[in-house]
Amino acid sequence: MQRREFVVGTLAAASAGAYLGNNLSAGESPPSTHTGVAKMPFEQPPLPYPMDALKPLFSEEQVSFHYGKHHAAYFKNLNGLVEGKPEAQMSLDDLVVKGSGAIFNNAAQAWNHTFFWNCLSPTGGREPNGELLAAIVRDFGGMAEFRKLFTDASVKVFGSGWGWLASDKQGKLEIIPAGNADNPLRHGKTPLLTVDVWEHAYYIDYRNERARFVENFWTKVNWDFVAQCYAKAKA
Ligand code: MN
Repeated sequence: MQRREFVVGTLAAASAGAYLGNNLSAGESPPSTHTGVAKMPFEQPPLPYPMDALKPLFSEEQVSFHYGKHHAAYFKNLNGLVEGKPEAQMSLDDLVVKGSGAIFNNAAQAWNHTFFWNCLSPTGGREPNGELLAAIVRDFGGMAEFRKLFTDASVKVFGSGWGWLASDKQGKLEIIPAGNADNPLRHGKTPLLTVDVWEHAYYIDYRNERARFVENFWTKVNWDFVAQCYAKAKA
């Protein structure tokens, strides 16, 4: 009974602040915190930059809610759902491909958001080059054409979802608009770039203006990350 209470307590503490880097505040015991965190099979990775580093695409408040509340909640929910189940031993990638129901929804949302943060950079927004640019020109006609197709497809996702750029094993590119938590991995494709078009992704900064958000999204795209994903897709 006491053990159970301890686990529940540390999970709650972790979801509230562990991922924001303030889990070892004064007076808290590091060993017990570490034990609690280690019990969770899935951990939200740190944000790859400070919360205010994506201005003016996103305000600090927008990122703090999106990363600290929404993204964190998918990990917390997932850890609760897999407790004592075989899924606790699976990788997050495997759960995205093979999972079902609520476990899939939370695993994919956990995965998708981590990928989304990596698709952005405070120094992003430059144009891609090399093989990736050549493939974009080959498959879409050029950067301007690709940007328009991806923007339109993402803006038009009905309800909540994601706009994806994905590659097959031959390196052919495809724009995949996806509902809810769907991910190209589920369809045998490798994700290269994504934009989150759930309202929670932009509502603090853009209110209902999804199109204006997706237009601004391009100013922070981390093309180096996209190119790395493309190189791995064809490997
Ligand atoms: Mn989101």
